[in-house]
Amino acid sequence: MTPSCSAALELATMLCGLEPDSEVLLPSYTFVSTANCIMRAGARPVFVDIRPDTLNIDEKQIESALTPRTRAIIPVHYAGVGCEMDAIMALADKHGLVVIEDAAQAVNSYKNGRALGSIGHLGAFSFHETKNYTCGEGGALCINKPELERRAEIIRDKGTNRQEFFRGEVDKYTWVEVGSSFVPSEICTAFLCAQLEAMEEIAHRRKRIYEFYTERLAPLEQGGSLCCPFIPEDCQINHHMIYILLENEKTRSALIEHLKERNIHAVFHYVPLHSSPMGESLGFSKGMLPETESVSQRLLRLPMFYEITEEEQSRVVAAISSFFGA
Ligand SMILES: *Cc1c(COP(=O)(O)O)cnc(C)c1O
Repeated sequence: MTPSCSAALELATMLCGLEPDSEVLLPSYTFVSTANCIMRAGARPVFVDIRPDTLNIDEKQIESALTPRTRAIIPVHYAGVGCEMDAIMALADKHGLVVIEDAAQAVNSYKNGRALGSIGHLGAFSFHETKNYTCGEGGALCINKPELERRAEIIRDKGTNRQEFFRGEVDKYTWVEVGSSFVPSEICTAFLCAQLEAMEEIAHRRKRIYEFYTERLAPLEQGGSLCCPFIPEDCQINHHMIYILLENEKTRSALIEHLKERNIHAVFHYVPLHSSPMGESLGFSKGMLPETESVSQRLLRLPMFYEITEEEQSRVVAAISSFFGA
């Protein structure tokens, strides 16, 4: 357990032994933590475009982004929909790379029956208040390389071998390498425990909310006004998020305004990292990743939270329908 997914990702990159000229591949269409953890480990992020269907890193574009300095890949399971992990792991094996899954949005999501976050060498989860299972701030790192376990334990506990001391393996604990405090509060994790005990109930409710939207929006989708998320057949999703894709940025802005006038707050994300101020200072610029840029201009998230009622959802759908004159 860690205090956040951001902390879990930082612990993960610290474990990878990155060097100043090391490169790590990631999508640009993601939350900033996916990139910060690379920079914090002193390495360089290299952005890869996304697939237009799942909005996940395009596994077919990974190989051409590789250089002799590439050390790791961080696939992000956007909206809890699994990346093409078989292809990514095969590439990683071929080129000797570490795979860190950013499974922040993918707790309780599966691909081909395998839990996301458990397939790569390392997997990071989030229990932030905006995720499916929450404790305010919380995270976890899943470690699939047994040889990394001891160092993870040390880095997480301020760079000391305190855990070995607790197990009676050493008679005193001391500073053994550079670490940090990646230990969560017990109170937060106790809260999380109760959330995980209610996992099935939470998952069931989110599925109903998600399906209510997709069923009611189906006529607009068939009419070509918008697209609902694409879920590959081998993905069993956790219904983390519902978004719609619109024709262009102008339509999205007008729809946001239309919803706002009806007291409905719909938001979008992300500003692609490669075209953010930080991305530009690293030498990236707009125009480099066409799918990422197109999606970031057209995607709109609909209100989705555990306690939303069907009546409220109906209001959202009615407002979207009236926008399209349906
Ligand atoms: C939420 C999120 C994070 C960060 O999680 P925290 O627990 O808030 O640190 C990282 N990556 C992605 C893709 C996320 O959605």
